[in-house]
Amino acid sequence: MIVAIAVHGGAGAWRLGEDGMQTAVNDCHRAAQAGYQLLQEGKSALDAVEAAVNILEDAPLLDAGRGSFPNADGDVEMDALIMDGNSLDIGAIAAIQQVQHPISLARRVMSDSPHNFFVGDGASAFADSINFPRCAVEELLVETEEMSGAIGDTVGAVALDADGNLAVATSTGGTRDKQPGRVGDSPLVGSGGYADNWTAATSATGYGEALMKVVISKTTCDFVAAGLSAQAASDAAIQLLEERTGGKGGLITIDRHGNVGISRNTQAMPYAFVDGDGVEKNGR
Ligand code: ASP
Repeated sequence: MIVAIAVHGGAGAWRLGEDGMQTAVNDCHRAAQAGYQLLQEGKSALDAVEAAVNILEDAPLLDAGRGSFPNADGDVEMDALIMDGNSLDIGAIAAIQQVQHPISLARRVMSDSPHNFFVGDGASAFADSINFPRCAVEELLVETEEMSGAIGDTVGAVALDADGNLAVATSTGGTRDKQPGRVGDSPLVGSGGYADNWTAATSATGYGEALMKVVISKTTCDFVAAGLSAQAASDAAIQLLEERTGGKGGLITIDRHGNVGISRNTQAMPYAFVDGDGVEKNGR
């Protein structure tokens, strides 16, 4: 049985300082282990990436769910995307307020609505229509000295389950002080994430305005389809991002054999993975 999972805590976390960075790596380790446990129990890749991202959304140092950066009005507007590499089904939300686990709401968009993507007031109305748990903005805001000035620390997970299905989940509070209504790459299919059983699953992080220009996650999966390894495809996509846009970011990728790729052109990106051979690693 080959199963694998990789998670990241955002390519901007290098400004957290050493203690913050170690906490972020530990959060990634916990999230990857929780997802891996589910995969070993025979649960789906979708279940694993959702559970892993829920843990990262609860981590106060990471820019998703609790700990999201406020926008210029002091509100928290979050974006999330989940994708099933088997069916290519998608669930996405953007500019959602007052939910602790945006990725779980995105999954409910996929499972409980005829649509793929809800934004703003419509996303909020959908959440209420399915009695999705809401919270006060104060429960999402976490202010620390260390975090000021960070460019954003989106979280994400990719997984391969025992049935050979791939999935991706990406969740973010977006960039600090963004204009209300600004949406980055994270909830955009192909940019913030992509999963296709025929190729790979990728989750992206970094400067969304650049990442979306090269549709970076789909581009990475296309590189795998062209014959590159998960690592080489991730490196090639980051190189393309840099050469074509000058943008900064990071990627995690798992291919359909459980090989993992980790790449970034920022100073750090906390991550953790267990690959298809059972090799565990975490780092930054
Ligand atoms: N990609 C996210 C965004 O632009 C931020 C990040 O990953 O740091 O909203």
